[in-house]
Order: sequence, then structure tokens, then C-alpha cells
Amino acid sequence: MSAQDRPDRPPWQAFKEALERAGFHPSRRLGQNFLLDDNMARAIASDAGVTPGRFTLEVGPGCGFLSVHLAHAGARLLCVEIDPRLAPIARDFLGPYPGAEVIEADVLATKSTLAPAVLERLPEVGEWTLCANLPYSISGPFLATVAQLPNPPSRVACLVQKEVAERLASTPGDSTWGPLSAAFQETYGVSLGRLVPPQLFWPRPKVDSAVFIAELRDDLAPPEERARRMQFYRDLMQRRRKSLRRVLSDLIGGPRATRSLEALDLDPLRRAETLTLPELRALEREVRVDV
Ligand code: SAM
Repeated sequence: MSAQDRPDRPPWQAFKEALERAGFHPSRRLGQNFLLDDNMARAIASDAGVTPGRFTLEVGPGCGFLSVHLAHAGARLLCVEIDPRLAPIARDFLGPYPGAEVIEADVLATKSTLAPAVLERLPEVGEWTLCANLPYSISGPFLATVAQLPNPPSRVACLVQKEVAERLASTPGDSTWGPLSAAFQETYGVSLGRLVPPQLFWPRPKVDSAVFIAELRDDLAPPEERARRMQFYRDLMQRRRKSLRRVLSDLIGGPRATRSLEALDLDPLRRAETLTLPELRALEREVRVDV
């Protein structure tokens, strides 16, 4: 199907009737805010840069408004939808695209592991893409989990709450720099993308949303090392306002903390939240070798 012969999306009213027939009421807990603006959905799919045959994971297709553009770009598309009332609607809408599969599952089996049905379908090697309008409730844990995969997606283009996008793309010194920023940037270089105002969704969310784009780093560490570093960043940055000496002493004991900070010439009175990623990496390495 070329761009010309792609049929126009049926009117929103047709989807709304199907949703009502399925007894559907949007759930805030599941972050069910559908992106009604077709131009915006097309633009986000193009941010993902999907090429024909590219494996692409979409979490929460809802009715399939973003999925259809990914499928139309030729993605080998896996959509994972938790809500059994929505999955059949997305499946119907994606019917003309044999490369698109919709499965019913919670994408997260635990806070830090993906569902087995998803894991077994992800490529073990080679490049792939993650593109989604992510439900707010899981965006942080899900993205941190993805960043720890042995073969993480090489490109990520996701729509999230603007505040989450800012945290993911922030740099040390920003008020938004924190454990999620450092953990995600251990795997990715991140930039802030287009802003999406509440009026483009049904129902309207209370806050602005934004796309972020993430590209795999060139100096990607092996998965065990990434996981270990991310855990260290979380431990260190959880008490962001405390001095480095205080937090590190609580984690590994006073003498080791002092030795490690001295070895790296780090000011013990600095706060953990001011450390850059290279400093965090160096400190994690120092703490590990000084046992
Ligand atoms: N992609 C659609 C769109 O852009 O219109 C819907 C996006 S809506 C923000 C989030 C979707 O994620 C909903 O369809 C919701 O049911 C689904 N969802 C929520 N939690 C989920 C989970 N843990 N696993 C899979 N899907 C989930």
C-alpha cells in the first residue's frame, strides 16, 4: 500500500461507537488518553524513522492511531495492549497490514522486567525501534527496564508527559536531572522533541505532553555493567540534597567513601545530584575496585 492508497482514518465517531459497544470508559490508571490528531500521530511515527521490515515495538496501541502509521511505514510491528476491550479494535484497524501483530498483555511482568510474551519476540541482535504514546503510570519503570535490555532498541521515539521527557533529556545542573535521567542516559543520548498540547487527546490530560528521541550510545557497556551502574546511580541520587560524603558513607562506610572521593578528587561536600555521567561512572568504578 503506498501513501496515496492508504485509506483515510475512519472518523473518531466510528471508534467511539465501537468503544461504547465494548463498554469502554477511559481509565486514568492505565493512562488512556488517545491521540485524536492524525497529523500529530503521523509526525510521531516519522520521528521514529521506521524503514520497511524494521522490528518496532509499540506499547499501548489503544485504537491503533499511532500504530497504523508505523505499520504503513512498513514496520514489523508488535503492539502490546493491556486492555482486552481495546486490543480487538486495534487488531481490526490494523487488519490490512499483515506485518502488524497485536497481543494482549501487561508489558511489564514486574517493575523491572518485561512480560515473557514480549521478551521472547524482541530481536536478540540487530537494530530495532520503540515508538509509543506511553501510559504515564509505567513510563519511568518501563523506560528504565528497556535501557537495561541486552539488546536495547537502537532508536526510541515516545510521547510522554512533558515533565518526564524533560527529565529524560536533562543535563546535570538542570532541576530535572535525577536518577531516571542518569540511568536512561547510561544507554542513550536523548533529545527533546515536539510538544503535544492536551487538546489533541481524548480525554484531555491535565498536563502537556512531549516527544523525546533517544539514540543508542556509541560506548554502550555490557548489560550487567549497565545494570550495576544504574543501580548505583539510583542509590546515590535518591537522597539528592545530601552531600556526597554522607550518601556514600551510608552506602559503603565512611573510610571507603573518603578514599574513593579522594582518589577521584571529588569535593565531598558536593551533592550527588550535581555529578555528571562521566563522574558517576568513574565513582561507580572506584567504589567497586576499592574493596
Ligand atoms: N497509542 C494510543 C494513542 O496514541 O491513541 C493510546 C495511548 S494511551 C496514552 C496508553 C495505552 O497504553 C492505552 O491503550 C492503555 O490501555 C495502554 N496500557 C496502559 N498500561 C499498559 C501496560 N502496562 N501494558 C500495555 N499497555 C498498557
